[in-house]
Amino acid sequence: MTAKLIDGKEIARRVREEVTREVADFIAGGGRAPGLATVLIGEDPASEVYVRNKRRACVSAGMRDFHRRLPAESTQRNVEDVLDELAADSEVSGILLQLPVPGHLDAEALVARIPREKDVDGLTVENAGLLAQSRPGLRPCTPAGVMRLLDEYEVPLAGAEVVVVGRSVLVGRPMAQLLLARNATVTMCHSRTRELAQVVGRADVVIVAAGVPGLIGGDAVRADAVVVDVGIHRTADGLRGDVRFDEVAETASLVTPVPGGVGPMTIAMLLRNTLEAARWQQDPVLVSA
Ligand code: NAP
Repeated sequence: MTAKLIDGKEIARRVREEVTREVADFIAGGGRAPGLATVLIGEDPASEVYVRNKRRACVSAGMRDFHRRLPAESTQRNVEDVLDELAADSEVSGILLQLPVPGHLDAEALVARIPREKDVDGLTVENAGLLAQSRPGLRPCTPAGVMRLLDEYEVPLAGAEVVVVGRSVLVGRPMAQLLLARNATVTMCHSRTRELAQVVGRADVVIVAAGVPGLIGGDAVRADAVVVDVGIHRTADGLRGDVRFDEVAETASLVTPVPGGVGPMTIAMLLRNTLEAARWQQDPVLVSA
């Protein structure tokens, strides 16, 4: 293997440690302990695990946990009422609606009930617009985590050719915006892109968030490229990504493993966003100055 591994587990541990220290300082300075409200609708087993991990991480960082569990048959109105109540509650710094929600609910309309200053997933139209204009706001956790990994490994971004595979609202689009804000030359690929391997082959940095197991192999990646795999797939052999790791590790200079790459960063950045939200709510003038 020629590539060096990007150790997301270790960087995430460091971010969580930093946030824990900053939460303690915030409280010592007279701030109210930040609180995260997770809202889980129904019994999807994967979502249950994600929410449990988020709640544990939040408590271990010294924040308060305001979990709301709603039955799968909740109506749009029921869920909107809960979100409105959390929005109005000054003890709650951040609100996270676990997605996906059951099919009969309108997820976009639900996300729209979350005030932008409590939108710790960075998914509201307001926060997406602020990001598109490079103005301060809460950023989606997974792409923010990828940026932190690239920075920790001192990957140069200004002027670099970066290819993002995937254009979802959750990952691909905000990822491209964050990279653009750092002066990368960004190309976005999607399911209609022609000659994907050729486009990816130009890149200094490749970020793959397509949700297709093993989509990108060693033949597509330039020697010395940096490859970040956002994909997560449960297989009989354990967790796998969108990148064929064994092949890419033979050509790339830096690569994220799955598991242990991007995954752990998502929760770490959620904690950071919850603290940012609490700071902003305590003193909007100071934080935006
Ligand atoms: P998504 O909403 O399904 O979006 C997938 C994107 O990939 C779409 O833009 C799609 O193009 C594009 N795509 C699909 N097939 C493609 C192909 N053959 N070639 C090029 N592009 C293709 O998925 P997502 O929510 O962004 O998630 C992507 C992956 O990341 C999933 O495996 C998910 O589990 C994982 N994920 C991980 C974390 C984490 O914490 N590590 C967080 C979020 C997501 P179109 O727009 O044309 O359909």
